[in-house]
Amino acid sequence: MTVTFADLRTAAYCPRKCYYDRTRDDHDREPPPGVDRIRALSTDYERLLQSSDDALASEPIALEPARYREALARTRDRLERIGRWNAVRRPADRNVLASGRHARGVVHKVLEEPLEPSLVSAGEPPDRGVWAPQSVHAVAAAKALAWERKTSVETAVLEYPAYGVIRRIDLTTRRKAEYRRALRTVRELDGPPPRIANRSKCEACEYADTCGVRTRTLRSLLGLG
Ligand code: SF4
Repeated sequence: MTVTFADLRTAAYCPRKCYYDRTRDDHDREPPPGVDRIRALSTDYERLLQSSDDALASEPIALEPARYREALARTRDRLERIGRWNAVRRPADRNVLASGRHARGVVHKVLEEPLEPSLVSAGEPPDRGVWAPQSVHAVAAAKALAWERKTSVETAVLEYPAYGVIRRIDLTTRRKAEYRRALRTVRELDGPPPRIANRSKCEACEYADTCGVRTRTLRSLLGLG
């Protein structure tokens, strides 16, 4: 049985959240409004680099226009140095449904020579590297492309177009192990797993009420938990 990239990503964030996702009626729901507009920025980097402050201000960017242009220019310069700027700007394919041996889902961009997936996030990048659930997603996408093309894929790209940031990662042994752990978690889900200890994740979780985390927090504050 193959699992979805989305389930793997969520399981890496919190196994219990993945359980709630999979058991809700609209399991395959669309991304929240606004995500498509942000992702569309990733198709138009050259235009964004040339845009005036006024034009940029009407785009769904998360930084003030001048800072955005500077961030994107730094990204372009860095990717040009490693020969990947054109691959990111003009990918061989977009929004491809990739099916691997264990996981399937949409790869936002397929880059060639070398073959690697690029995933476009509507959110904010971490200070360094990429978020752990995105790393798991990237490994899953790379493995799916590798399976389909019968080749190996050892790198992946994460784009954060609202911030003008693009990061390329090596699919290290540690990242692959985290992917396998998430895959095992999804496959073995047969009831709600324990709550995670990292409450900052719970604050951003849509299931905080269902999960009982808010109630528990209040009880602890009152010294009852
Ligand atoms: S509230 Fe916290 S423990 Fe509960 S599902 Fe969400 S992230 Fe997981």
